[in-house]
Amino acid sequence: MRKHIFNPGPSVLPVEVLQEASEAVVELNGSGESVLEISHRGKTFEGVVAEAKALVKELLGLGEDYDVLFLQGGASLQFCMVPMNFLNESETAAYADTGTWASKAIKEAKLFGKVDVVASSKAQNYNHIPKGFEVPGTAKYFHITTNNTIYGTQFHRFPESPVLYFADMSSDFLSREIPASKFDLIYAGAQKNVGPAGVTLVVLRKELLKRIDKVLPSMLDYRVFVENDSLYNTPCVFGIYVCLLTLRWLRKKGGLKAIEKINETKAARLYEVIDRHPLYKGHAAKEDRSKMNVVFTLSCPELEGAFLEACTKAGIVGIKGHRSVGGFRASLYNALPLESVTALCEVMEEFAASHQPSSKERVSGV
Ligand code: PMP
Repeated sequence: MRKHIFNPGPSVLPVEVLQEASEAVVELNGSGESVLEISHRGKTFEGVVAEAKALVKELLGLGEDYDVLFLQGGASLQFCMVPMNFLNESETAAYADTGTWASKAIKEAKLFGKVDVVASSKAQNYNHIPKGFEVPGTAKYFHITTNNTIYGTQFHRFPESPVLYFADMSSDFLSREIPASKFDLIYAGAQKNVGPAGVTLVVLRKELLKRIDKVLPSMLDYRVFVENDSLYNTPCVFGIYVCLLTLRWLRKKGGLKAIEKINETKAARLYEVIDRHPLYKGHAAKEDRSKMNVVFTLSCPELEGAFLEACTKAGIVGIKGHRSVGGFRASLYNALPLESVTALCEVMEEFAASHQPSSKERVSGV
C-alpha cells in the first residue's frame, strides 16, 4: 500500500506521473526507446525541454522576456552561481537571512563580493519572517528565500526591492500564485514541487544577461545555458522528463490558483489540530506560517518517540523534524493528497487524546 509521504525533498510525486514515468522507462510513447536511452540532442528531447519551459512560463504567467533553464548542481549551486554571475568584488548584495538555506546563500555570496544582511530572524531561531526593513538602492541585487523549508516560515507578502530581485523558491515553487514578474531571477530545486532530485530550475529575465560583465567557466555561466537552451552539456534527461509530466499534471489540476487553494486547505487543517491541542506547539509565528512545511514540536519532548511510532504505524513517513529545530515537520507539497493530511491529523488527534500533558509538563514554545 502507498504510504503517506511527508518527505521534505525528494518528496511525494503524483501517482499518475510515477506511472507514466515508469512506462517511459521501458518505452517512451511507442518509440522503441526508453526515455533513459534517448539522445539529449534528438527531436524528442528537444520537444520535452520546449514544452516544459513553456509550461513553467504559462503557469507563472511570464512572457517572452523570460527564459527557463533546467540545470544541475541543486539549488546549492545557485547559491554561488548567482553572485558569481552578478556580483563583483567592489559591489554589495542585499540578503534576507531567514534560515539555514538563506545563510548558506549568504556564505557563498561573500566569496564574490560584499553582503549586506538587511533583515534576519536568526536570533529567534528563524521562527518568523522579518518585516519593515528597507533594501538600499545601492545594492546590486536583493535575495530572499521565499519559503524556509527547515523552520516552516514563508513570505506571504514579498518585500519591495528597488534593485534586481532574486529568489530561492526551492520549497514553494509553483505552489501558489505569485507576482512572478516582480522577480528578475528565480531558482528552485525540482525535488519538492516539480519533479525528482537532479534538476534545478532557473527562471530569469533575459535582459539580465547583459549585466554579466566577466569571463566565467562555461558550466557556471547563465549566458551559456540560455544560448544553448539548457543543452550545453548532457542534462538530466529523465529528471526533466518527469518534471514535464508533473507540470502537465499541475496544469490539468487548474494551475497555480487551483493548487494554492488545495495547499491552503491542507495547511489549515493541520495547523488547526496543532493549535487546538496543547500537546503540539507550532514553531513559526502564526502570520508567517508556511503552507508547505508545517513544523511543530511536542510540549512533552519525551513523547516524541511514541508519536513517531504512531505515525509510522499509520503509514506516515518523512515527518521527523530537521535537527536544528527538532520535533516534527510535515511537508505538504503539491502532490501530497488531502487524505494524507487527514491521516496525519487523525493520528495527532488520537495521540493527543491518549497523552494529555499536565500543565507542569508543558514546556513553553518559542
Ligand atoms: N533552498 C531551499 C529553500 C531548500 O529547501 C533546499 C533543500 N532542501 C536548498 C536550497 C538546497 O537544495 P539542493 O539540495 O537542491 O542543493
